[in-house]
Amino acid sequence: MSERSHLMHTYPPQPVTFVRGAGTRLWDDDGNEYLDFLSGLAVTGLGHAHPAVADALDAQARTLLHVSNLFATLPGEEVAAILDRLIDAGDGLVFFCNSGAEANECAIKLARKNGGRGRHVVVSAYNSFHGRTLSTLHATGQPQKHEPFQPLPEGFRHVAWDDVDALAAAIDPSVAAVLLEPVQGEGGVNPATTEYFRAVRALCDERGVLFMVDEVQTGLGRTGKWFGFQHHDVRPDVVTMAKALGNGVPIGACWARADVAAAFEPGDHATTFGGQPLATAAARAVLTEMQRIDAPACAARAGARLMQALRELDGVAEVRGAGLLIAAQLDDGYDARAVTLDALHAGLVVNAVTPTALRLAPPLNVSDDEIDEAVAVLDKVLAGARP
Ligand SMILES: *Cc1c(COP(=O)(O)O)cnc(C)c1O
Repeated sequence: MSERSHLMHTYPPQPVTFVRGAGTRLWDDDGNEYLDFLSGLAVTGLGHAHPAVADALDAQARTLLHVSNLFATLPGEEVAAILDRLIDAGDGLVFFCNSGAEANECAIKLARKNGGRGRHVVVSAYNSFHGRTLSTLHATGQPQKHEPFQPLPEGFRHVAWDDVDALAAAIDPSVAAVLLEPVQGEGGVNPATTEYFRAVRALCDERGVLFMVDEVQTGLGRTGKWFGFQHHDVRPDVVTMAKALGNGVPIGACWARADVAAAFEPGDHATTFGGQPLATAAARAVLTEMQRIDAPACAARAGARLMQALRELDGVAEVRGAGLLIAAQLDDGYDARAVTLDALHAGLVVNAVTPTALRLAPPLNVSDDEIDEAVAVLDKVLAGARP
């Protein structure tokens, strides 16, 4: 692009301009083709320009876009019912919003209202990521990200990841909730252990504290189950989600057990756009298609193939993750950012989730051939960048 950009400098200089996508493929403004193994940061779980989602958007745009939350609309009710069933609860209620951070804001406000005055602290883990609004930034356990924006809203506390004793020590009578990701996504793709999640559940029960799970990145099939917590046979009290719910259309949701959700009364929380019919029609199409193809099973199967292939690559020291949320830890001396850029030039989109690890999160319906093709590209790129 020749003219100067009028966008704020919140993102690093962008090397490529994408103009079109279809399934796992993207094309740039020079006509170059790419394999998208990032899915817009785990958003386009069904691939680009999915026909069922496109048709739903087209039909809804010609039917009803917006009437405000002073009135009910139909797709939102259906999406909430499906989510409640997929969470496997049948007793929950949903609040719709427009992003992951907003879903977590809703959870934090709900925890405060549910806890009552003086019982408002949310405990989360170091290395976590929960969003960029002031509250969710404070919930995010990365102190270096806090510094430029101090003072942040009061009421957040961080503990070491995967350390139940640290969590137990952090829970005093001021604590309303614990907020954890089933797999720390932005923190480097660090899966929780089953022992940890079960111990957290038991601890929260013992202390009368809510267990809130941030499924913004892990939710909706990505890890090989509908939700990441379902790997551990625990039931959280609150579940937040967003990224994959609209396959690229902005929508977030905060689910809570009905008796917890009951803390919200009319007027306690609201949004102009959240839950409007265009977004919920997209989500309904996404969930219908995900159920039709059994997206969690697709992710589990494709994830096993991709992880196995990555483990066999020269230059990859370790592979971690769940389903199709995967990090490839590179051998000492590699610079993951440089490898990411080389991969892009070779036609493969991934990202450097840490300075030394690549994140791969292809669409859940990625084919075996596409996996093999991507791994072959990565093999060449790693050979070319060998330290
Ligand atoms: C991306 C992400 C968020 C923030 O979502 P936004 O839509 O960018 O506000 C929150 N939590 C987790 C786990 C995420 O991966």
